[in-house]
Amino acid sequence: MSMIAGFAGNVIGPDHPEYDEVRPGWNGMIDRKPALIAQCTSTADVVAAVKHAAANGLTAVARCGGHSVSGASLPEGGVLVDLTGLRSITVDPEARIAHVAGGCLLGDLDAATQEHGLAVTAGIEPSTGAGGLTLGGGIGFLCRKLGLTIDNLASMEVVLADGSVVTASADEHPDLFWALRGGGGQFGIVTRFDYRVHPIGPEVMVAQAYYPMDDAKAALTWLRDYMHSASEDLGLATSFLRVPPIDPFPEEAHGKPCLALIASHVGEADEARKALQPFLEQGEMLFGFVDPMPYVDFQRCLADGSPHGNRYYWKSHFIHDLSDEVIDIMVEAARDFPGEFSQIFTEGLGGAVSQVGADETAFANRSARYNLGISCGRIDPALDDEAISRTRALFDAIAPHADKGVYINYLDRDEIDRAAELFGPKTARLTSIKAKYDPANLFGGPLGGAG
Ligand SMILES: Cc1cc2nc3c(=O)[nH]c(=O)nc-3n(C[C@H](O)[C@H](O)[C@H](O)COP(=O)(O)OP(=O)(O)OC[C@H]3O[C@@H](n4cnc5c(N)ncnc54)[C@H](O)[C@@H]3O)c2cc1C
Repeated sequence: MSMIAGFAGNVIGPDHPEYDEVRPGWNGMIDRKPALIAQCTSTADVVAAVKHAAANGLTAVARCGGHSVSGASLPEGGVLVDLTGLRSITVDPEARIAHVAGGCLLGDLDAATQEHGLAVTAGIEPSTGAGGLTLGGGIGFLCRKLGLTIDNLASMEVVLADGSVVTASADEHPDLFWALRGGGGQFGIVTRFDYRVHPIGPEVMVAQAYYPMDDAKAALTWLRDYMHSASEDLGLATSFLRVPPIDPFPEEAHGKPCLALIASHVGEADEARKALQPFLEQGEMLFGFVDPMPYVDFQRCLADGSPHGNRYYWKSHFIHDLSDEVIDIMVEAARDFPGEFSQIFTEGLGGAVSQVGADETAFANRSARYNLGISCGRIDPALDDEAISRTRALFDAIAPHADKGVYINYLDRDEIDRAAELFGPKTARLTSIKAKYDPANLFGGPLGGAG
């Protein structure tokens, strides 16, 4: 008989031989021990796991892709409600809706929707969970055109703290629907997302341009100005990273810091190529191209940058623009930033993201042009102290130039109490919705004070 009444999936406790295999999330720095890992196979299993946690005074924390930087899906002593068995996706091409189970990964979404020539706007890494990414907002290459992932949610099926299953949409439980769009998974466990999908691909035009550090300042300054009048069809990310030790990068540059400009354009091919060509003309590239690429391949092309299980420490700021000061600070820090998997990156916002009203969702900042992330990634634990202090120093240096709020999905574990800053004027509304739907703080999260 299962350790959880009415539970059909596997229940893995600390004595189970697979416990240490299934327990870790993406961030190898975080080592916590849940009381139970409940591998759900259905919404009914999620209900059973939630009821079990409530009855035993434990937290119930969902895991989808396990990519939480802060380890929010790895509760110490709680019930880890593992959704990775909930992976069904049904696409309705007529209605332009994708019904996506709460444990799906972004790679699942892209594969299933592209079969119909459609896409959900989401993130850039196929192993990221749709669950965590969506509930925090969802920033990706299509967001300037289509908005955040939450802006494309029609409804959700949610398991509440009392074990009931409800629909959250504009018409049903609208307060919960509002909070779950940007407020994270602290109000309930979402077992199905219903996304509006859009015609994209099968190919998109892509620019990748890698510049040595000597050209980085000029390239970013150009980019800042160029983006002021760029079309919303153009999606953008920039990253200071180490030159990958592979062809076609020149051998003498391998392992050295560089600036990568990565962009996509979903407009008509000639126009897209014309818009992206200048990305290749901002100095002496180490490597670069503008070419059409299958959308699913493009979505996979950054997948090796932050491998699962390494040690990561993150911080982030929204910034109104890439001011000269911010560019100088980033370039200086990138010259000798510790960590072979580190990235100092920006994600282009604006466009459709800024056209949704500030109060329409719980997302913290609609007016910033960029989200700026610092991800210090390495294998060696001996680098931890330096990684943390350099990341904090860079974060502090950018702080005077930062915009309001912070992206909940990039919070690290020492920042969970930044709820007030995170949600700003929305804190009171979110706190009252949290009190209504999760009065005992079963699900934890920033508004409940737990990690
Ligand atoms: C390598 C990497 C690349 C990334 N790229 C992007 C990007 O391009 N764009 C972007 O916006 N973000 C990106 N992120 C951040 C990402 O959105 C967050 O880390 C997000 O929390 C990951 O979701 P997950 O489901 O994988 O994580 P998990 O660790 O499984 O979950 C994260 C949080 O969400 C909760 N949760 C997950 N699923 C559910 C559910 N179904 N119902 C209720 N609560 C749930 C968990 O309890 C936890 O609190 C990236 C992160 C990494 C590590």
